[in-house]
Amino acid sequence: YFNPHLARVQQITVCVRKRPMSRRELQGKAVDIISVPNRDSLIVHELRHKVDLTKFLEHHKFRFDYTFDEECSNMLVYEHTARPLILTMFEGGNATCFAYGQTGSGKTHTMGGEFRGKTQDCTTGIYALAAKDVFSELAKPKYRDQGATITCSYFEIYGSKVFDLLLPDKPMLRVLEDGRQQVVICDLTQRPVTKVEEVLSIIEQGNRERTSGQTSVNIKSSRSHAVFQMSLFVPGQAEACGKCSFVDLAGNERGADTQSASLQTRREGAEINKSLLALKECIRALSRHSSHLPFRGSKLTQVLRDSFIGGQQNRTCMIAMISPSLSSVENSLNTLRYADRVKEL
Ligand code: ADP
Ligand code: MG
Repeated sequence: YFNPHLARVQQITVCVRKRPMSRRELQGKAVDIISVPNRDSLIVHELRHKVDLTKFLEHHKFRFDYTFDEECSNMLVYEHTARPLILTMFEGGNATCFAYGQTGSGKTHTMGGEFRGKTQDCTTGIYALAAKDVFSELAKPKYRDQGATITCSYFEIYGSKVFDLLLPDKPMLRVLEDGRQQVVICDLTQRPVTKVEEVLSIIEQGNRERTSGQTSVNIKSSRSHAVFQMSLFVPGQAEACGKCSFVDLAGNERGADTQSASLQTRREGAEINKSLLALKECIRALSRHSSHLPFRGSKLTQVLRDSFIGGQQNRTCMIAMISPSLSSVENSLNTLRYADRVKEL
């Protein structure tokens, strides 16, 4: 059994998860071009053409802290990615876990829970698995005797706007930065929770709100970032003394910026690009312990500012998701190169 207390956690870990072929891909006889030879490497077999049109395979090999093949469960992924971060929160730091990848690669499946038809089972996602561990940690005398408590929030970032997923019709919230560069989301719902079941119903509510088409702001979930947070409070202190953030990022696919896309789609694409670039720079700044933090580059990095400061105390994990099939090769290579750059010093 994996014990988070024994795990030596690196400050930044970057992992990759390959999802299985979908039924549609199997029916369409899609070709699987990704192999995961062991637990820390992954190969993309790209079919290319020479000038004379003869075909050859180009093998792109990547190494990461952990690589998960299509057989791996959410639980296994959780154990090696977000689980070691829970301790960070209880030690008073900010822990952040990102799911990165193109639309359809498995970000929401991994973070929010598995889909059964149209319904999503939130108990199988990383948010819920993390909540379970948070409560078993909280039950320890050290925290119980202090009267430590947990609150949850769940919001969505679309363009440069923030929407509360825990209120009906997900109202838009203002984001303010004070003189000390502290960023606050005004009136963000912070729901106090005392047991896992309460967190599950919050996740369910937020997931529903995220995909519901009847809200005043009808946003396609693939074009927005979703952020689920748990904060630790101890009596007598107004500010959280530790925080865990889980981010289901907007799809990183290219093509939204092409001529054929609508103006709206192109604007969305540009905004997403900008935020993912800013994210990469902020994680790199954290890893270099750089004092210059380019968090103002996007709303995403602005509201997550606390994740990138705080020096040694903070931990970040990125799970890059990839689709197995040949038709996604361009996006998969882009995802893997991005993940590679995040890690590179
Ligand atoms: P994203 O959020 O990245 O757009 P989703 O999580 O919605 O992608 O996944 C797209 C589809 O693939 C969904 O139908 C989901 O059930 C399926 N899927 C994704 N990852 C897995 C996995 N590891 N195992 C089985 N099905 C998966
Ligand atoms: Mg999704």
